[in-house]
Amino acid sequence: NVRVRFAPSPTGFFHIGSARTALFNWLYARHTGGTFVLRIEDTDQARNSEQFLKLIYDSLTWLGMDWDEGPNPDGVGERGAFGPYRQSQRGAVYEKYKQQLLASGRAYEKDGAIWFKLLGERYTIFDDHRKKEVEKVKTAPVLIDDKIRGQVERQEDEDFVIFRSDGNPVFHFVNVVDDIEMKISHVIRGEDHLSNTSKHVRLYEGFGVAAPVFAHIPLILKSPEMGQGKMSKRDKGALIEEYQQRYFLPEALVNYLSLLGWNPGDDREKMPIADIIRLFDLPAVNQSNAKFDGKKLANMNMVYLLEQPADRFVALAKDCFTKQPAGTSVMADETYFRTIMLLAQPKIKSVDELGAYTVYFFTEDFPVDAKVKDKVMAKGEPKVRLAELIAAIPGMDFASDATVEAGIKALAEGKGLGFGDYQAVARLAVTGTNAGPSITAIFRVLGKDKVLARLSRFAA
Ligand code: GLU
Repeated sequence: NVRVRFAPSPTGFFHIGSARTALFNWLYARHTGGTFVLRIEDTDQARNSEQFLKLIYDSLTWLGMDWDEGPNPDGVGERGAFGPYRQSQRGAVYEKYKQQLLASGRAYEKDGAIWFKLLGERYTIFDDHRKKEVEKVKTAPVLIDDKIRGQVERQEDEDFVIFRSDGNPVFHFVNVVDDIEMKISHVIRGEDHLSNTSKHVRLYEGFGVAAPVFAHIPLILKSPEMGQGKMSKRDKGALIEEYQQRYFLPEALVNYLSLLGWNPGDDREKMPIADIIRLFDLPAVNQSNAKFDGKKLANMNMVYLLEQPADRFVALAKDCFTKQPAGTSVMADETYFRTIMLLAQPKIKSVDELGAYTVYFFTEDFPVDAKVKDKVMAKGEPKVRLAELIAAIPGMDFASDATVEAGIKALAEGKGLGFGDYQAVARLAVTGTNAGPSITAIFRVLGKDKVLARLSRFAA
């Protein structure tokens, strides 16, 4: 009976690392038919915030990681038989466990704090680093049979604090007590916690309870352009909120996150969530660190966008434009809006790019990229080509992309030139840029009048 938990602290923005830890727990629960628990580790009263708490619920919900036990997603009430699920409400449980350790002699008071007592022969050494005498304990090494890292051996040789002198329990204590109380079978968490695990194992022994299975998932490193080392919440692209605000598809983000430290055993990348759930397993998680790659994530989103049904894509686009100042005017003509959005669908990496990508379809006051202009105007005889186009367009057929293309080709052939000789300057004049849908589609959709007006204005 697999029971896993995601145990975030509401002390900061919800970032890629948290989402990936939550996902691996969720995947394991869904893979095994087990239970996914959300526990809020909000013992740090000074750093907790309701805003960050809400962000945990909202981010998990947006990403589709539903939890079986824990606070309700709206933050009102909770579900599950092992609550409360917020550590700030579990003081009585911690007190009970503290008393148990005190009674069994595995905890004692010193300097106002409560300490956990290791078993073994004691001796004192002078610690050069801390510049004081410290009491050490000769104990057998802690052996951790980690489902991902394999056999890990660590040494615990000093008693440690479990309740500070202000009366508050420390992380190690509440984490272990709750995993016991909530009957957690597998602790799946970031490798940064591996150094805590030996303390946790000693605590389980102290309580006389078998430890859960541990699985420490690899760190996420920055991509080379971000610098070196572990990815942090301050890195660009680290926050889940940002992707939500940019209208990324949550299923694309989840697919990308699943590959941060895991693969399906072959080189497949884009996979439906049902396949990821079916193939995910702990031994398949890599030991080596994962590397965040914002470009790859954007590409994944692009691939998902491409296969969205037209109606869903247009709905996403509408949602995005509604929140922009020019939004409503852009959507005034539904059919036109839809045509433009579907033209852009295969070309953009995220929905928030739509505004800039399609701006020239909706206004005569579109920006002109100065660098592109310099480049295009420096090559060949763009002014002559422009004049030829302006002269030829009234006689062209704008009924379809194919007829527009035939028209431009005929013009080019007549002058002993190619389609390409007209393309860049036409695009620059009509869109202000060098990227976008095909020039033939742009001509057709804008229509003769607008195209002619823009070409003439540019030529003037
Ligand atoms: N609150 C801890 C954290 O956010 C949980 C660690 C764990 O999963 O055991 O890192």
